Amino acid sequence: MSLGWSANDHKSAAVKRARNDSGNKVSVVLGAQWGDEGKGKVVDLLATESAVVCRCQGGNNAGHTVVVDEKEYDFHLLPSGIINTKCTSFIGEKQSLAVQCITVTLEDSIGVLTVYGRLFPKILKINKFSEFIGTTKKGIGPTYACKASRTGLRICDLMADFSEFSTRVKNLVLQYQSMYPALKVDVESELKKLKDYAERIRPLVRDGVYFMYDAIHGLPKKILVEGANAALLDIDFGTYPFVTSSNCTVGGVCTGLGIPPANIGDVYGVSKAYTTRVGIGAFPTEQLNAVGELLQTRGHEVGVTTGRKRRCGWLDLVILKYAHMINGFTAIALTKLDILDVLDEIKVGVAYKINGKRVPYFPANMEVLQKVEVEYETFSGWKTDTSAARKWSDLPPKAQNYIRFVENRIGVPIKWVGVGKSRECMIQMF
Ligand code: GDP
Repeated sequence: MSLGWSANDHKSAAVKRARNDSGNKVSVVLGAQWGDEGKGKVVDLLATESAVVCRCQGGNNAGHTVVVDEKEYDFHLLPSGIINTKCTSFIGEKQSLAVQCITVTLEDSIGVLTVYGRLFPKILKINKFSEFIGTTKKGIGPTYACKASRTGLRICDLMADFSEFSTRVKNLVLQYQSMYPALKVDVESELKKLKDYAERIRPLVRDGVYFMYDAIHGLPKKILVEGANAALLDIDFGTYPFVTSSNCTVGGVCTGLGIPPANIGDVYGVSKAYTTRVGIGAFPTEQLNAVGELLQTRGHEVGVTTGRKRRCGWLDLVILKYAHMINGFTAIALTKLDILDVLDEIKVGVAYKINGKRVPYFPANMEVLQKVEVEYETFSGWKTDTSAARKWSDLPPKAQNYIRFVENRIGVPIKWVGVGKSRECMIQMF
């Protein structure tokens, strides 16, 4: 049977070029738990040597805090790399228009989030399901829903003929008014604002696929992708239905930016030294007791975007292993070790059981996950302030023991350990 090519074809110029020109690889930073792991800080660290920093999914429902020289920056939509004036920041996928005067490059096919947020804020407020699952009510879910139902409005639509765009906006409003008859929208005034936004962002908009291709195939450079949200909030692999609307695992990097899997290089997973979760949903290692309260207060576990208190519990290695199975982490950043400094005893969840039998996988069904009992390993606390530690040997042996245990159980090297909020409070292990 002929395959349509001969053995000599591999010598052709195009094949040789392809072999030599596989391009730059992108490094990726992803949340390995339920978010708020301190990804911003890891991205900030890597962004100092990156030429391009990209966001690939989610919207202004994410929140990262970066502390540089005691100044705190909160990011919701912009890549945290924006602090580094030498790097280009790129926003792909479903991001909002709230970028205004900042020098970022927008992908040409991204969703116009604020169209939904602006036109239908009342729907967002009264949406009982959104209340139930604890979303940020920024309009991210409905925007992804519009994308899937093919009624979405994209930046490329806003950049093209404005009267066509206006017709689509009006149709969308009519569609929502048929579902919510009492809904009133001042469409003309909103369109006026959108027209103004369109002109302001026009110089920043690029075709995303071509932008990324040029970045990958141009001069050798470091390219960083900053994941928002986290593995267990992934729409497909997370604790559904209490998840976000996008793919926050590694596949979202390819679909969000339009880059080939072969150009994904290092994938760094970020995990706290304990676990937190915002909103409702199963949380096997949650501590509804003094330990949970201590982690919440010492860790300042309050959402950047929502201001909601985060639920807190012990580190869960079943979750981290599951996140690693999906993402293939090259290394892990273990943040907020310092929060554990005062504990007499520290536990780590190592397995789940149902009716006394070990569950060999991470349960996909929420009712099953609610029922699991956690098997713990217990460590005695180091009871020492680690916030001034800057290298591995500065850490107390009991803290080193804890870190090595986590590393061995997940089977992924821990590259960084966080011992405080600021840039310098990060121990680099290798
Ligand atoms: P992100 O969304 O994953 O970037 O995480 P957030 O920014 O929402 O939450 C992380 C919070 O923890 C921020 O306030 C950080 O400044 C802080 N943080 C990050 N790493 C550490 C650490 O190692 N120790 C302490 N104490 N705080 C940290």
